[in-house]
Amino acid sequence: MTPLVLQGPEPGGQLLTTTDVENYPGFTEGILGPELMQRFADQAARFGAELRYRNVTAVDIAQRPFRLLVDDDDVVLADAVIITTGASAKYIGLTNEQRLVGRGVSACATCDGPFFREQEVAVVGGDDAAMEEALFLTRFATQVYVIHRRDALRASQIMQDRALAHPKITFVWNTVVEEVLGKDAVEGLGLRDVQTDDRSILPVRGLFVAIGHQPNTAVFQGWLEMDERGYIRTQPGSTHTSVAGVFAAGDVQDYVYRQAVTAAGNGAMAAIDAERWLAHHSVPAALQMDALVEAV
Ligand code: NAP
Repeated sequence: MTPLVLQGPEPGGQLLTTTDVENYPGFTEGILGPELMQRFADQAARFGAELRYRNVTAVDIAQRPFRLLVDDDDVVLADAVIITTGASAKYIGLTNEQRLVGRGVSACATCDGPFFREQEVAVVGGDDAAMEEALFLTRFATQVYVIHRRDALRASQIMQDRALAHPKITFVWNTVVEEVLGKDAVEGLGLRDVQTDDRSILPVRGLFVAIGHQPNTAVFQGWLEMDERGYIRTQPGSTHTSVAGVFAAGDVQDYVYRQAVTAAGNGAMAAIDAERWLAHHSVPAALQMDALVEAV
């Protein structure tokens, strides 16, 4: 086969914003996320994959060969497609929030937590990710506030218990962040109690947003079956999507495990599924040069 990897504008995805990856097998001392991603790319290239820093901007996967519009000016034809476009962290949507990403606002405690040694920080969210981020941040911060819009957590009991019992974690219930304060760095948060409408200022230096992820599936909307959150539906125990010949792997179809190792294993499943599918669906001679495309 002639695999073509359309890597998109941020090759490596979420792992590029991760420091040490401690739970990928084979690296007993851990490995930096960007280095792991570079090794993935080098290994794929060694086996003949062509990697391009290009973005898929539209698709037509109603029939074969599948058509992928690349950067709005180039069409790639493919006999099979593996979608591994991942998911991106959601942000609250406040004016100052995006401006201060990397300057106090973050969606990744593992990446940015060490910058907040001996400082006070806040985490927004009420599910497992928020608990995990808050617990991790206690290693560095003097105080971690968990700001949640309701008075009950969605997180698993064990994570709730750990966070609720931690002496450095304080919960701020029924509260939303309305404003991120600061010019060049976060200097505080404007809060509003949703029950009383009372407004207050929390003088923290860091805001960690842990309110879930958005799967990167916009370009495939209308072409494939997705769940109500926009994750691509795959057939149980496989990577087959609702369109024969199109496969999905990793965070774009998994919001439960979301680990580098599970995504990589899933990618291996997709490669096997695609190869078998192609072997059983003879390829017309005219299409034999078409590529197997992985949109990473
Ligand atoms: P999630 O399940 O989508 O939860 C998002 C949380 O943020 C909810 O508590 C939600 O509040 C809150 N939220 C959503 N939008 C908000 C907004 N605009 N403003 C303020 N708060 C907002 O996301 P997640 O925590 O990333 O978890 C995703 C999945 O991964 C879950 O199945 C989780 O169990 C799993 N996970 C597991 C672990 C672990 O076990 N170690 C770690 C991380 C993730 P409401 O509760 O009011 O809806």
